[in-house]
Formats: sequence, structure tokens, C-alpha cells
Amino acid sequence: MQSLSSFRDTFGGDIVLPDDPAYDQARAVWNGMADRRPALVVRPTGVDDVVSALRFAREDDLLIAVRCGGHSIPGLSTCDDGIVIDLSRMRGAEVDPERRTALLSGGSLLADLDAAAQEHGLVCPVGVVSHTGAAGLTLGGGMGRLQRRFGLTVDNLVSVDLVTADGRLVHASEDEHPDLFWGLRGAGPNFGIATALEYGLHPLDHAITYGTIVHPLDRARDLAGLWRDLAENGPDELFLSFGVTDQEEAYLTALHSGPPERAERDLAELRAFGQPAGDSIKAMPYLETQHLNDEAQDWGHRFYMKSAFLPALTDEVVDLCVEHATRAPDGAESGFSVWAWGRRISDVPEDGTAFTGREAAAWLAAESMWDDAQLDEQCRAWGREALADLAPFASDGRYVNDVAEVGADVARTVYGDAKYDRLVALKREWDPENVFRLNQNVQP
Ligand SMILES: Cc1cc2nc3c(=O)[nH]c(=O)nc-3n(C[C@H](O)[C@H](O)[C@H](O)COP(=O)(O)OP(=O)(O)OC[C@H]3O[C@@H](n4cnc5c(N)ncnc54)[C@H](O)[C@@H]3O)c2cc1C
Repeated sequence: MQSLSSFRDTFGGDIVLPDDPAYDQARAVWNGMADRRPALVVRPTGVDDVVSALRFAREDDLLIAVRCGGHSIPGLSTCDDGIVIDLSRMRGAEVDPERRTALLSGGSLLADLDAAAQEHGLVCPVGVVSHTGAAGLTLGGGMGRLQRRFGLTVDNLVSVDLVTADGRLVHASEDEHPDLFWGLRGAGPNFGIATALEYGLHPLDHAITYGTIVHPLDRARDLAGLWRDLAENGPDELFLSFGVTDQEEAYLTALHSGPPERAERDLAELRAFGQPAGDSIKAMPYLETQHLNDEAQDWGHRFYMKSAFLPALTDEVVDLCVEHATRAPDGAESGFSVWAWGRRISDVPEDGTAFTGREAAAWLAAESMWDDAQLDEQCRAWGREALADLAPFASDGRYVNDVAEVGADVARTVYGDAKYDRLVALKREWDPENVFRLNQNVQP
């Protein structure tokens, strides 16, 4: 209590303790399965508060969880009995339209970056649900609908301001601490607390074309064939997601970020693909697409996913997805999606950043969302079994931000041996005592 009272004297933000009426709200994170009870949740208002929270936690030997948007699938931004350093009071984006950059505070959401950039007709490729935290998404890689054209989110990262385990504020970029900057781009949460992230932006000041065509499940192979054709021959502006659902549907979602006239031309084959059960493809503002999934992926549901990279979307893969979709657990919403990869993503050499999996042709995920805790085991088992059957068709590496399991050997399977060893050396340099271990942990 003595140290808590002196911490209060140095800390300008909120401190929420278990007897506080706001505690239950403060400890909640996105995935309803991560129901943890930290000893305290603190909300810094700036870098000095972050440093003072870190010092207090280290002096009291508290387990430290760092939280931005709270969307970690396994709940890595909360903990039992430790401290949650919740950055949600550190939000905001400053755009420099001349330099085409955005400086984002460490607790910002994708919505903050999208809105600020679009005010100037600019954009950064990020994820597809606007309430996701920008720091957590970026430090793991950052997949979305503009990545084939502009690269992963992390490929657009210019620099990071990082509070390190010893309480220093370090600026990392290609020029300053380049090794640390390499590790931050894919294994970031291991190395400190990012208080600001600087991004490069691209012009995008016209409507984009976005939507989904839905067909009965028995057309899954044909739709996958169309996906392959468009992914291979379509322009970099084209994002494609093929999927099957537990509602006996197969679908293809497209976003074309070029001018609408060109999009209509490039999507002609998609339009001509038989009579769909649904077709929502139309021109709309980019910002609108960034909010379309927000409600369906709202806070508090229970969620499990398992993903893999694929060298190709073959008919065998499609058949396995169909088979597993038809036996998904009742009472949950489940399905598979397969995103086209390549282009700017694979232009960056595989060892150019800690992120692993650039050479894949596609990313595949099985996802389940449900509310009844009694379904937890069944839903997890469904995803695991599906991905076990799909494993022979997968390529190396895993997307760290999708990994729902935690454990000593997980990070090695994510990054592969060579990168993992390089990350261990960095971890020994920057966080030898593993102060930041609530992440897919690189063990010093
Ligand atoms: C609904 C939903 C949609 C998603 N969509 C996409 C998508 O389209 N594309 C994609 O690539 N991923 C997506 N993801 C995965 C997402 O990238 C990860 O869950 C990511 O970790 C979320 O970041 P966050 O800041 O919200 O999470 P948090 O739970 O706050 O943090 C996640 C991890 O990052 C660490 N961390 C957070 N902030 C900081 C910081 N400032 N400094 C250092 N470490 C920090 C945490 O300690 C934790 O280990 C989605 C996830 C969800 C739940």
C-alpha cells in the first residue's frame, strides 16, 4: 500500500482497483473468454505515466499486461493478479499531409488512423474491424484489404517510440536501433511499450468498390477457381477473400481500391459468375468499408480462431473447408476465410522483418464466435481439428496475431528457428528479465 500511495503521487492517469465500481468494466477485454482479475488497471495519460506505471510494477514485482485495443485473441492484454497498463487514454493521430505520414499515440484504434488519414485523402493499410487496437495489430504485422497494393501495416511503419524494460524512451527506425526496429515489426510486444507509432501514408481520395457475392455451398470449388484466377491475374488493387460458412454458403468478397470504372471492368468476371444468392458489390467511401464488420465483431462474445498460410488454394483445401463447415458446432457462428496474399506483401524479403509468412499465396482461418460458455471446448476442438486436417497443405510460419494458444514453444513455430534465434538475441539485449512476457513470448 505504501508503494501504491507513492505511485499515486507520480501518476497522472486513472488507477482502478478491484473494489472500484468501474473495475469490471476496466478489466473487460474483447474476447469474452479472457475473464481475468488483475490487481489493478492503470490508464496513463502520456509517456511519463507509462514510465511511472512500469517502475511501480517492477518494484512490486507485478506481472505486466500492456493493452491498446484489447483485441488479443488469447487475452494477452490482461492477467490475473498483475497490473494492466491500459493505453486507452493515449489516443489520437496527427497527419502531416506534405510528408504523407501519421503519428499515432500508442493506445489508438484503427478508426483513429483511418479517419485522420482520410481527412487528407490518404490511407494506411490496416485491419478490417475499426475498433481493433493499432499498436497490437501493427506490432504483429497487420493484414487487411489494401495490403496487396501497399504492403502489410508493418511495412508502412516508419518509427516507434518505445518505453523499454529499464524505463528508457527509445526511438527505433531504419536509422536508429535498426535491429530493434526489425524485431518490432512482427514481434513488437516483446520489447517494450510503444507510446507512439509513425506510419507512411498513400493517396486514396476516391470511392472504392466493395462487396460480397454469395452462392450455395455446392459451388465452393467453382468460386475458389474464380478466386485463384482473379488473385493471379487481377491488379494489385484487388483484395479477395473466399469463404465457406456453417450456413451452407460459399462466398467471395472483393475490395477494389482503384477508380470505380476500372473496378467494374476488373470485376466483370465476378459479376458474370452465375446467378448469386446475394451480391452487395458497389462503390462506397473507403471509411464505410472499415466499419462494416464492427457490429458483427463486437466486444464480449467468445471467440476462437486457428489460421495457417497456404502455398495455394487447392480443391483439396476447399473440400476440407466445406466438410468441416458442415459439422461446425450448433449455437456458434463458424466458417473459413481465405485471403489472397502476395504482391507488395511478398516484395519485402522474408527476413526483412520479424513478421513471417510473406511468401504464401494465401492466408486461411477457421473462426468461431459464440456466447454460451458451455460451447467453449466444442468450438475450440472444431477449429483445431479443421486446421490439423489442413496442416499438410500449409506452408511455414504463422501469423502471430491469430495464435489463440500460448505456451513456451509457440513463438518458435510462428517465426521459425532462424528468426526466433535472432529475436532471442534482441530480447536478451532489450528485455533480459522478460518483463514483457504477456505476448507470444520470445524467451531470453
Ligand atoms: C475483431 C477482430 C478483428 C481483427 N481483424 C484483424 C485484421 O483485419 N487484420 C489483422 O492483422 N489482425 C486482425 N485482428 C487480430 C489483431 O491484430 C490482434 O488481436 C491484435 O493483437 C490486436 O491489437 P490490440 O491492440 O487491439 O490488442 P491488445 O489485446 O491490446 O494487445 C495485443 C498484444 O499487443 C501488445 N500491445 C498492445 N499495445 C501495445 C503497445 N502500445 N506497445 C507494446 N505492446 C502492445 C499487448 O501486450 C498484447 O500482447 C483482429 C482481431 C479481432 C479481435
